[in-house]
Order: sequence, then structure tokens, then C-alpha cells
Amino acid sequence: MASDLFEAPDYYNLDELLTDEHKLVRDTTRNWVKKEISPIIEDYAQKSEFPMHITKGLAEIGAFGPYIPMKYGGAGLDQISYGLIMQEIERGDSGIRSTASVQSSLVMYPIWKYGNELQRQKYLPKLASGAWIGCFGLTEPDHGSNPAGMITNFKDKGDHYLLNGAKMWISNAPFAHVAVVWAKDENGRIHGLLVERGMEGFSTPETHSKWSLRASATGELIFDNVKVPKENLLPNKSGLGAPLGCLDSARYGIAWGAIGAAMDCYDTALRYSKERIQFGKPIGQFQLQQKKLAEMITEITKAQILTWRLGLLKNEDKATSAQISMAKRNNVHMALNIAREARQILGGMGITGEYSIMRHAMNLESVITYEGTHDIHLLITGLDITGLNAFK
Ligand SMILES: Cc1cc2nc3c(=O)[nH]c(=O)nc-3n(C[C@H](O)[C@H](O)[C@H](O)COP(=O)(O)OP(=O)(O)OC[C@H]3O[C@@H](n4cnc5c(N)ncnc54)[C@H](O)[C@@H]3O)c2cc1C
Repeated sequence: MASDLFEAPDYYNLDELLTDEHKLVRDTTRNWVKKEISPIIEDYAQKSEFPMHITKGLAEIGAFGPYIPMKYGGAGLDQISYGLIMQEIERGDSGIRSTASVQSSLVMYPIWKYGNELQRQKYLPKLASGAWIGCFGLTEPDHGSNPAGMITNFKDKGDHYLLNGAKMWISNAPFAHVAVVWAKDENGRIHGLLVERGMEGFSTPETHSKWSLRASATGELIFDNVKVPKENLLPNKSGLGAPLGCLDSARYGIAWGAIGAAMDCYDTALRYSKERIQFGKPIGQFQLQQKKLAEMITEITKAQILTWRLGLLKNEDKATSAQISMAKRNNVHMALNIAREARQILGGMGITGEYSIMRHAMNLESVITYEGTHDIHLLITGLDITGLNAFK
């Protein structure tokens, strides 16, 4: 890949709204991405492999549990810092951001919020340091947008639970040390169970042939009469609201992350448009190319303001699930559109791995689908404003 010349767009001087700590966190992550991700990511994406050696670095910049209290190994930062970390990592690659999101919001968050003190002490420091990687099993082969219909279940066998079922499309599954698994008890109520690699009957086959998020490992979780110790049940929350609470936190991070991917595509296309000469002029002098670039910076700026405001609401614990849905939906769609337009500005070069744009575009096809599809988030907004439920 060409060297990383990224300069972040800030059309409305949003830096003025950030604290010194926010800027320090953002710049530290940005520099780390330039040094550790940009030089290697194209190669790992091409060979469809997660760069395992970066987990220690992700932990060091606070990307594993940014807002988890320091006493559990987290970085103890606020929600805007969390968002900025996700933005900068996804500026490098959505697959790497996915690993950090899953670890922080889908594994550490439920252990912190729904677990007991013993579980927090046992798992959180290992996850924060990157010594252990986690995954989150909600989606099943026959239940994606409708997780309430899940089949995976466990029975109380006195001294342990017996877990059966299968999960699909699980990020980090092939190498995760621990899985937060959502399953129904004998009364049909959903609970979270901590399933560790090595438990008999538990396997995690990798999903191959993806054209998207190639630098993130995806797999299945298969439970064939797995004996799960009773102390591995998350005791403090059950029902569908428990996994949805984790998804709120992860979707919030995605809303920020998508801005990172969009900024990278815009910045790359802007630079290229000033350098590429056709008909004796830089292509950036043609009105059609200026229209594309002007619309990109407008959409990025709107998304930045939306997300910054959402961050303030999150810091005050006032952000609703529907507000988070709106930001996830808007920003990922915005980023995908920008990736497609930016790719065209680069002409044929846009399809090569010399530039990051095509990789971002392909990655964003997953990001627009996972953690609630584009359609599902629209229906959440529809339900919120009308009070009428389109899911029923
Ligand atoms: C790379 C990748 C990584 C992932 N990582 C994880 C993970 O770590 N953990 C995890 O649990 N899951 C994960 N997922 C799964 C992801 O969350 C699901 O793919 C997503 O929720 C959609 O489910 P589905 O694929 O079964 O699609 P479906 O639910 O079958 O949807 C298919 C289409 O129907 C539409 N649709 C569905 N219901 C409605 C409705 N009521 N009204 C209108 N349209 C509707 C959808 O919008 C979509 O367009 C991942 C997925 C991918 C691709």
C-alpha cells in the first residue's frame, strides 16, 4: 500500500469541542495506526488473516475496555475518548476495529455490567491486557435480525449447565479464549454464559471465503452437550435486553468508527484529485469531481457533529437505544456511499490495494449488516417516533 499520508478533515473546527485528554487519546491512536496498521493491513486483508501480533499494541493504546474502570485493567476513559479510539482504528481498518469493539463492548461490557465480582476479577484484566481475546455469540444460522427466536439452550443438571446449539458469524471466534454466549434456559429466558476454549463439546470452525472484513476472523460456535460450570452464568441481567445492552455500546462505537473509514476515503480521494492530471488539468478542477468531494465533506461533518452530541448524551447516561441506532445507521451508510464515490475518483487505481478505499468499501458491506442491519435500525427509529411496532 502507498505510504499513509492521512490528514483528518475537521471542517467545523470540532477539535475545539474536545478536551486535551480526548485529543491526546485520539492522536496516540492515530499515530499507532499509522505505525502499526497502515504498513501491514493490505497484506493481512489480502491473505485473509487477523494480525494477531497487534493485540498487545491495541491493549496498550486502551482499545480493549476504554471505558472499563482501571481497577479491572480498563482505561477508565469517557465515551468520547472511546468513540475517538474506534474512529481512529477504523480509519485503519474496520476489521481491526471489529476486534476491539467485540472485546470491549460485547465481552468486557457484559462481564463488567452483568457479571459478579469474581467473574470481573477473573476475566477483565486478562481481556484488557490482550492476553485473552473474547467473542460474543448471539446470531444463529436461523436467527439473525430476530435473536429472540434463538434455539441455543441450556439445562440445569444440578452441578452444571448442559449447553447445546450453534452460533454463526461470530467475530474473533476462531481464536477466542472465552465466548459470551446467549442461550435460553428451560423457561425460554435468555442468559449470558461464559464458555471457555477447551470445554468438551465446544468448537469454533472458521468461516472462509469472505470478501469483507478479511483481516478479522469470523467463525461459528458449536455446543454439543457442553458442561458449563454454574459459576459461568452472568447473574445480574437476563432477557433479550441483556445482549441488546451490549449492542448499544458496540453500535455507538461503530457510529464513530464509520467516520474514520469515511475520513480515510475522503482524504485519499481529495489528495488524488489534486495530483491526477487528465485533459491537462487536475481532475479535482472538474465540477463533477468537486461535487463528489464537497458532498463527502458535508456528510462527514454532519456525522461528526451527530456523533459528538451522542457522546455527550452517553457520558450523561442519557443516550437512548433509538438514538444510537440512528447514528449507527446514518454513519455507516454515509461511509459506504463515500467509499463508493471515492473509489470512482481514483478510477482504475481505486480498485487496487495500492489505496485503502476498496478495502474500506468491502469492509463497510459487513458493518452495514452486523449489529443490526440498515433496515432494522430504520424500523427502530420508526417504532420510536410512531409508537407502532413494525416487527410484530
Ligand atoms: C462479518 C460479520 C461479523 C459478525 N459478527 C458477529 C458477532 O461477533 N456476533 C454475533 O452475534 N453476530 C455477528 N454477526 C451477525 C450479524 O449481526 C447478522 O448478520 C445480522 O444481525 C443480520 O442477520 P442475518 O445475516 O441473519 O440476516 P437476516 O436477519 O436474515 O436479514 C436478511 C435481510 O432481511 C432484512 N430483514 C430482516 N428482518 C426484517 C424486518 N422485520 N423488516 C424488514 N427487513 C428485515 C434484513 O435487513 C436483511 O436485509 C456478524 C456478521 C458479519 C457479516
